[in-house]
Amino acid sequence: MNKQYKKADVVIIGGGVFGCAIAYYYTRNNPGKKIIVLDRNELCNAATSHAAALVTKIRAKKSFIPLSLETYQVVTEMEKILGESMDMKFSGVIHLAASEARLAELKELMEIAAEFNQPAHYISAEEAHQMSPWLKTDEALAIGYMPDEAYCDPYLLGTFFSRCAKMQGAEFIQGLEATNLIMEGNDILGVHTKEGEIIAGTTIVASGAWAPKFAREAGVSLPMAPTRSQYWITEKDAIFPVNSPIVLLPDAQAYARPEGGSLLFGIRERNSLSVSADVIPSDVKDFSFSPDKGVQDLSEVIDRLARFFPKVYDIGMKYYVAGFSGYTPDNNLSMGVAPGVNHLLMATGCVGAGISVSGGVGLAFAELAAGKENPYDFSAFNLQRFGAVDPFSPEWLERCARARSTKVSG
Ligand SMILES: Cc1cc2nc3c(=O)[nH]c(=O)nc-3n(C[C@H](O)[C@H](O)[C@H](O)COP(=O)(O)OP(=O)(O)OC[C@H]3O[C@@H](n4cnc5c(N)ncnc54)[C@H](O)[C@@H]3O)c2cc1C
Repeated sequence: MNKQYKKADVVIIGGGVFGCAIAYYYTRNNPGKKIIVLDRNELCNAATSHAAALVTKIRAKKSFIPLSLETYQVVTEMEKILGESMDMKFSGVIHLAASEARLAELKELMEIAAEFNQPAHYISAEEAHQMSPWLKTDEALAIGYMPDEAYCDPYLLGTFFSRCAKMQGAEFIQGLEATNLIMEGNDILGVHTKEGEIIAGTTIVASGAWAPKFAREAGVSLPMAPTRSQYWITEKDAIFPVNSPIVLLPDAQAYARPEGGSLLFGIRERNSLSVSADVIPSDVKDFSFSPDKGVQDLSEVIDRLARFFPKVYDIGMKYYVAGFSGYTPDNNLSMGVAPGVNHLLMATGCVGAGISVSGGVGLAFAELAAGKENPYDFSAFNLQRFGAVDPFSPEWLERCARARSTKVSG
């Protein structure tokens, strides 16, 4: 089908938190310009609504921090526009180090917090236990506390972006799939859909786990692999106070946060699962690649977690959640201007941090799409940093899975 359906300055494939955030900043900064966001399902149905949604600011990877700081800033901005609270939970983070290696990392993190003017101080084991009664602290060598860290409802964050963007003139089309890119030589001219062509000056791929397929069409080998994250939510218990902090347990490769009187926790599996973008179905509801709801994966690593959360052996699990997002071998984002073609941007490779960094990512791509300078340093996220890779090969998938299995940070 070659008939023209719509025309815009920018078309975005994918209405997850990245697509919606880009639309927000683009319409805010370029009034009168036309942007269309296309999603084959509902907005934010995929990774975004499945996230544990820790909005981590203070991290070892410093290039992420300005992006996350922008997320905090824009939440306040959008709350003003909509006259509504997003009810972000400023719970703070407890970071427990129980080995010399993790202690050195915590010390470095505390220095990074100071460098970025973020409050952080050490607390005693008793104080930590008081805040999070489920937490066993006797192995702790040091415990850091960062009171300004938060988590959020990721669906609300995504839809705050889309609602504000809509008010500013963005068009969102749900239930319409981008089937292919429109290409003329090295120029990307928009996307094909079953309704016809959407012609645009700039095309942005923000299709999450499915992004490698569009990259392949454009001859770009996108260095990321769709990789599964999973977490569990326990039964309610008095040891999980609603207002207790997020807890990071790098020695257990685990994190936890309160969830309405229950505890939500995630832990890196012994063998993470990365799959080809070709095999992930378009509707991810109830599709986890874990028919046993992660029971086997959890049982392999539960002893690691029980060092700090002994009750995990007895407590019932109320919910299991899994989803795919794009991981890389160096746990750095994988995004930017697509090499070798014109007018194509890749807002991809979120390494399980897309909720945190969505503000900065949205602003960066909005500026790039408008032909302006990227306000952030994206050199660590460069799409060509691994050289020539085949993102669909078993070797590449294995490299990305291993990166997640060995990741210790939250
Ligand atoms: C279990 C889990 C826990 C997580 N926890 C955290 C966390 O604590 N903190 C954090 O910062 N991040 C977390 N993340 C990561 C975060 O969810 C992602 O980084 C973020 O949601 C990525 O957003 P996105 O817009 O790139 O992708 P998605 O939200 O997946 O959106 C992509 C969209 O593209 C659409 N699409 C795909 N193909 C097409 C097509 N051909 N045509 C039209 N539309 C298409 C899809 O329908 C989808 O809506 C977690 C992820 C998971 C799965």
